[in-house]
Amino acid sequence: MPLPFLRSDVVQLAAYTPHPGAADAITPAYLDPLDTNECPYDLPQALKEKLAWMAQQDIAANRYPDGGHGALKDAIAAYVSEAITHGLTADHISVGNGSDELIRSLLIATCVGGEGAVLVANPTFSMYGILARTLGIPVVTVGRHDDSFATDLDAAQQAIEHPQGVPVRAVFMVHPNSPTGNGLTEAELAWLRQLPDHILVVVDEAYFEFSQQTTVTDGLSRPNWVVLRTFSKAFRLAAYRVGYAVANPELIAALEKVRLPYNLPSTTQAAASLALAHRQELLAVIPEIQAQRDGLMQGITQQTALRVWPSVANFIYARPHPSQMPMEAALAHYFQALKAQGTLIRHTGGGLRITVGSPAENQRTLAHLRQVPN
Ligand SMILES: *Cc1c(COP(=O)(O)O)cnc(C)c1O
Repeated sequence: MPLPFLRSDVVQLAAYTPHPGAADAITPAYLDPLDTNECPYDLPQALKEKLAWMAQQDIAANRYPDGGHGALKDAIAAYVSEAITHGLTADHISVGNGSDELIRSLLIATCVGGEGAVLVANPTFSMYGILARTLGIPVVTVGRHDDSFATDLDAAQQAIEHPQGVPVRAVFMVHPNSPTGNGLTEAELAWLRQLPDHILVVVDEAYFEFSQQTTVTDGLSRPNWVVLRTFSKAFRLAAYRVGYAVANPELIAALEKVRLPYNLPSTTQAAASLALAHRQELLAVIPEIQAQRDGLMQGITQQTALRVWPSVANFIYARPHPSQMPMEAALAHYFQALKAQGTLIRHTGGGLRITVGSPAENQRTLAHLRQVPN
């Protein structure tokens, strides 16, 4: 019997599983964690010591954090400005407890209460749909083209012009997309740019530091465009939970209204500021990860029965070549066989998403893939 006071649509939902399939009877004690696209390297010890010292000396535990995130926003604005020609200030930035919180704030500010639906192109990041459903927001899905994984723009335009229920109020795109690794094409960008002002465009650039492709300049020239970024990937701070939005001040003001007042712990704000201050050191491993990605892709193509797609992110999307076995069964077979050997990847979106790890991890990934009987 469901609890009678719960919303009927909440009763139907399942809780998010962070590492699906990671724990069962035959799982080895240690798995290479290549299922969540983090940086393989922890924060350097010297920075960890600095953070511990700050927690001891600078942060009064009995005091609320800076609810305006002043220092952190200034540091983020300076960092984002490096890659664009626009001047950008703290008024263009909102900070969230992970970009997940910002996704939820955007949904609250646009679609809640029957005011709109969201549009996503599957396969893509699952969190947009998950968070929308918890808020009772309809999710309209369109597909992607077979080989390029570019959005089916005809279907997307159709969904906007002829809504089946409430009209689309927000379009969520990942650039580059997860799980497929492709950046937005010129055609996709042109389509996003021509969307009317009453539809919000959300471009999630969680993997910007790996792709070096950004739409922030587009965003700042429009009232209905917001770029999301995170410290969880290239900046190695997934444990601290911090993401940010870049948009024009009017939209940022709306995000500031709907967020929780003290959404970021003091330690988290300190960690993000410290990471930005040491960004040269932290981001210095990006070329290594890109080279590892390209090497791993080449190894998989030459030495296994998997097909891989081009990726500008820190993960690889792969599928077994068509065979007698149905595709989903073949993917499940690969996932299980890798896990049994000690490599945890993600089986999602009709394929396998493999995070690029350290050189040793990537060697094991390739060796374990070679061992999968087909
Ligand atoms: C990892 C990831 C994020 C990061 O979410 P956080 O809540 O900031 O950890 C956001 N969007 C996409 C597409 C991701 O893959």
